[in-house]
Amino acid sequence: MTIKHITRLRCVKCYKNYTLEQQYTCLVCGLEGILDIEYDYELVRKTLNKTSLAERELNHWRYRELLPISESVVLPYLQVGWTPVYQSSKVAQIIDIKDIYIKDDGRNPTASFKDRASSVGVVKAIEQGAKIIACASTGNAASSLAGFSAAVGLKSIIFVPERAPEPKITQLLIFGATVIRVQGSYEDAWWFCQKACERWGWYNRNAAVNPYLVEGKKSAGLEIAEQMADKMPDWVVFSVGDGCTIAGAWKGILEMYKIGIISRLPRILGVQAIGASPIVKAFRSQTDLVISDAQTIADSICVGEPRNWRKAVKAIQDSNGEMIEVTDEEILEAMRLAARSAAVFGEPAGVAALAGLKRAREAGIVRAKESALVAITGNGLKDVQTARQAAGSPISLEPNMDKLEKILDEQHLL
Ligand SMILES: *Cc1c(COP(=O)(O)O)cnc(C)c1O
Ligand SMILES: [Zn+2]
Repeated sequence: MTIKHITRLRCVKCYKNYTLEQQYTCLVCGLEGILDIEYDYELVRKTLNKTSLAERELNHWRYRELLPISESVVLPYLQVGWTPVYQSSKVAQIIDIKDIYIKDDGRNPTASFKDRASSVGVVKAIEQGAKIIACASTGNAASSLAGFSAAVGLKSIIFVPERAPEPKITQLLIFGATVIRVQGSYEDAWWFCQKACERWGWYNRNAAVNPYLVEGKKSAGLEIAEQMADKMPDWVVFSVGDGCTIAGAWKGILEMYKIGIISRLPRILGVQAIGASPIVKAFRSQTDLVISDAQTIADSICVGEPRNWRKAVKAIQDSNGEMIEVTDEEILEAMRLAARSAAVFGEPAGVAALAGLKRAREAGIVRAKESALVAITGNGLKDVQTARQAAGSPISLEPNMDKLEKILDEQHLL
C-alpha cells in the first residue's frame, strides 16, 4: 500500500528507514525501535493550506493529508477533534501569568483525548481487513477504542489492569467490548495484550508501538496551531504517561509550521505525577530511561515503563521545553481550579497539566509575562471517585429554615 503524502517510516532509535507496510516497530531495535512517519510537506502544502482549511469540516479529518490513511477509506462518523479552546483570565490571574488558554479535549466522543488515536486505529484496522482490534489500557484508550469499534462495526477486546477505575470499565462494557481484567499492573496487561495480538493476529491498538496511532494524537497539535494561529502562546502544556500524546502534539505543531500555517513555535511543558515520573528523570539526567514503580491518583498517566519516552524527550528538547513533576495534592487542587475558575471538569491526568503549569510558574520556569495553553485531556466524570476527593461533601440538613440560616451564615452566604 502507498499513501502519496507519506515518504517513509523511520526508526527513532537507529534511524533505519522503512516503507509503509504492516511494520510496527524496527526489525533491528525491536520494541524500542518505534517508527515515526514522515510526510512530503511540499506536496502536503499544495492542498492543505489556509484556503482549503476554510472550506473543511470542523473535525480532525480536516488534516487528512497529514494523517496516515488512504484516500478511499470510509471515515467513522463520530465527531472527533476540533475541541474548544477557552481563554480564562481568572485562572491566569490566580497563577500569575499573562494569558492562559484551556483546550477541553474531554469534549471528544468518549470524553478523552484518546479518541484522536482510536479513530485512526479503527480506520487502519479496516484497511487491513481486521475483524478484531485489541488494546491494553489504563482506561481511556480502551473506552475510546470500544466506542469507535461500535461506530465502525469491529469487535474490540480490551486488557485492563486490576486498578482501572470502575466507571471506565463500565464505559467499555456498554460499548460491547470484551473486557479482560488482568490480575496485575498496566505493564502486565500491556504485555499480555501484545502476546495475544501476535498469537491471534488481532489489530494492535497499543499506541506506543503502533506508529499510526501517534499520528492520530498529532491532530491535537495541528488543531492547537490552527486555533491559536497568530496568538500562539509561549508554552503548550500536556500531561505525560507513555509519552505519545506530547510527542504527537509537538509533531503536529511543527508540521503546521512546516506547511506555513503558523510562523512561531511554542515551548512544550511536559508534566508527570511525582509517583510516576520516569520520563522526567530521563529528561533531566539525559540518560536512558530507568523503569520504575508507578503510583498516582492520575491513573491515565500512571505508567512506570513508558514505551514512547524517546519520542517524548526528543519532542520536548526540540521545542526547547521543560518537564516538571506534580504531587497528587497539586493535581486535586488543579481539579478544583479548572472547575471553579474555568468551568472545565477534568480527570486527574487531564488537570495534571494545569498543576504542572502552576508549579512551573512558581519555579520561575514560566514567567509572569508569558502565555500558555493547557490541554485538559480527559473529562472529570471518567473518575468520579477521585473527583470526590477534590470536591468535598454536600451539607446534610433536615428542611429547617433556622438551621439553613445558621449554615448560610457560617458560609458567609448571607
Ligand atoms: C493517555 C492519557 C494521557 C497521556 O498520554 P500518553 O500518550 O500516555 O503520554 C494524558 N491524559 C489522559 C486523560 C490520558 O488518557
Ligand atoms: Zn531501529
